Amino acid sequence: MSHPAIVKDNVAVITGGASGIGFAAAAAFARTGMKVCIADVDQGRLVEAATKLSSIAGAANVMTAVVDVSKTESLTELERAVRERFGGTDILMNNAGIQPGSTLFGEPDHWQRIIAVNMWGIINGSRIFAPDMIARGRSGLIINTGSKQGITTPPGDPAYNVSKAGVKAFTEALQHELRNTKDCRLTAHLLIPGFVFTGLTARGRTEKPAGAWTPEQTVDFMLARLEAGDFYILCPDNDVPRALDEKRMLWAA
Ligand code: NAD
Repeated sequence: MSHPAIVKDNVAVITGGASGIGFAAAAAFARTGMKVCIADVDQGRLVEAATKLSSIAGAANVMTAVVDVSKTESLTELERAVRERFGGTDILMNNAGIQPGSTLFGEPDHWQRIIAVNMWGIINGSRIFAPDMIARGRSGLIINTGSKQGITTPPGDPAYNVSKAGVKAFTEALQHELRNTKDCRLTAHLLIPGFVFTGLTARGRTEKPAGAWTPEQTVDFMLARLEAGDFYILCPDNDVPRALDEKRMLWAA
């Protein structure tokens, strides 16, 4: 049993699909017999990832696209190319993200880049793909990758926190809109990973730190929660409740 959108011959598009959580999701979708398109800004990694996916799904079922999610024309072209090659999209995973670090009064260009990739990339991806996904009239999914930092907003990386808080707010608005759209079988979901060992979090480490999840564990959990129909896919190694309690005490002090 799996979610009705995750079935053989359906089409999944994953941004940031060349590595980490995005690649693990693409591999899981490919294993169910889906056609997959991985979209990423890193061309070298895309080639490597496509070779691995082709060995799972066959080259005819794998598509790659060099995409910068911060750019409208890049996402519009991706949507068109997937329709042309595979007929449309059933699952969109807006997942591309960066975490270069930020300071509150740091350079405006640096802030804008983080917001443009992490927040606008996800908002714009949803806006560009959703109309055709709704019109398909089939069971479909938009999965947006947020972060617990968008909820707990720990000190230290304000631009990332703001971008992920925006992803949460937008995905809630999107799900509300989809629920209120007549005959719409498309639903939105917010993935909130815990600490996952990927290029984003490795910071020079080659071994997975104790307590960190693998991308594959994260995706297995996501698939189970999608099947259960959850909107918030909050990975269980998450310390959100504790962090919010600490924050309440901090502001009360
Ligand atoms: P990752 O670095 O392995 O994957 C991110 C991918 O996004 C990379 O392949 C990268 O090339 C791509 N990318 C970056 N900028 C892009 C752009 N402008 N256009 C298209 N692609 C772009 O990291 P990951 O941990 O797998 O991250 C995936 C998502 O999960 C991100 O949104 C991240 O913020 C989120 N996340 C990760 C963790 C964690 O612990 N790893 C925790 C919470 C949230």
